[in-house]
Amino acid sequence: MSNPTYDVVVVGAGIVGAACADELSRRGLRVAVVDRDVIGSGATAAGMGHIVVMDDSDAQFALTRYSQQLWQELRHELPDDVEFEQCGTIWVAADEEEMIEVRRKQDYYGKRGVPTEVLDPTALQSLEPNLRSGLAGGLLVPEDGVLYPPCAARFLIERAQQRGATLRLDISVAQIGLGQVRLTDGTEISAKIIVNAVGAWAADLTPGIEIKKRKGHLVITDRYPGFVRHQLVELGYLKSAHSVSGDSVAFNVQPRRTGQILIGSSRQYGADHKEVDSSMLVRMLQRAQEYMPGLAHMSTVRTWTGFRAATPDKLPLIGPWVNTTGDKSIFLATGHEGLGITTSLATARVLVDQITGTKPEIPIEPYLPSRTAKEYAHA
Ligand SMILES: Cc1cc2nc3c(=O)[nH]c(=O)nc-3n(C[C@H](O)[C@H](O)[C@H](O)COP(=O)(O)OP(=O)(O)OC[C@H]3O[C@@H](n4cnc5c(N)ncnc54)[C@H](O)[C@@H]3O)c2cc1C
Repeated sequence: MSNPTYDVVVVGAGIVGAACADELSRRGLRVAVVDRDVIGSGATAAGMGHIVVMDDSDAQFALTRYSQQLWQELRHELPDDVEFEQCGTIWVAADEEEMIEVRRKQDYYGKRGVPTEVLDPTALQSLEPNLRSGLAGGLLVPEDGVLYPPCAARFLIERAQQRGATLRLDISVAQIGLGQVRLTDGTEISAKIIVNAVGAWAADLTPGIEIKKRKGHLVITDRYPGFVRHQLVELGYLKSAHSVSGDSVAFNVQPRRTGQILIGSSRQYGADHKEVDSSMLVRMLQRAQEYMPGLAHMSTVRTWTGFRAATPDKLPLIGPWVNTTGDKSIFLATGHEGLGITTSLATARVLVDQITGTKPEIPIEPYLPSRTAKEYAHA
């Protein structure tokens, strides 16, 4: 690559960078993608791959629903190794208080066209017989699904390459700005626009953006086909995901096509090392066993960690980075916390609509990085 000029250089070949490269190339732009590692090696390799509609805010709902529908449209083109399964989510309610949340969620989703079904204890037991007895019920969201994120990222990058995109792996980007991407070997690549899609490391390349690393642990079991049939998440997960400080765990399990069970989830701030923290792991597995006692008898084959890119208002940063230097070349596509696999496709649409001046399908203001500049101004 000897100083070529592109319309857009995407830094980061995780699921978000991959989706952006795919969408940019689909709209006819000349694209290069650079990553210091392999495709899908960051949070994308660590994530669960749950494609889920969420409603912590109207903006979160809009982006997750838009993206879930884009995954549905794409599903027939996805290769087998992406392991897309529309297994649905069951939000599990432990008690009557959580059933109030089940009904609120059903009402919210129903008014916005998302099919759901309220489950009483008997219906819950018949759909998931390995959950403990005595649970109050749940909410089935049948259009949610699961996939294997690194292969999904590879598929999107390969599609961009088929349209002419250039991929450069195994080289770090040292600096971006003023239409230049400087690599650690000294090479410079010029482009009209540079997309910072390096997830939890985004502030290294764009100082001033508020991204914190939020560590998560996952465990995968040996093969136990049929033991879990849907993505199962306790409603208490929402409390865990909402917490802005402190460590938390929640029951969150996923059936893989292989028959393996992926067990999550944990959230930690201020733990920037990637080693497994055995006390968090024990807490997480104990929580899982409280809901599914049979998990205690299963063999696990691997445990790992990853870093979510968290923003203060829990929404991603998608759009131009407004800074005091007047540099208009930098766009952000980061800050997706625990929803970047789900929202990658919608992020790419929202980003590329801004780059190409196309009318977006959903209101984009909640995701614009300029909202954080306003927060600073009023702080
Ligand atoms: C435990 C866990 C469970 C999760 N479960 C889910 C889930 O079920 N559903 C869901 O939707 N989301 C989930 N997530 C979140 C999801 O994984 C992330 O939001 C998503 O993967 C972010 O993708 P990304 O492309 O922005 O970042 P990443 O995948 O982290 O990619 C960033 C890329 O940038 C590269 N990079 C970094 N710095 C540089 C540099 N200086 N130069 C060049 N390259 C660089 C890295 O090598 C990496 O490939 C989970 C996350 C975790 C940690």
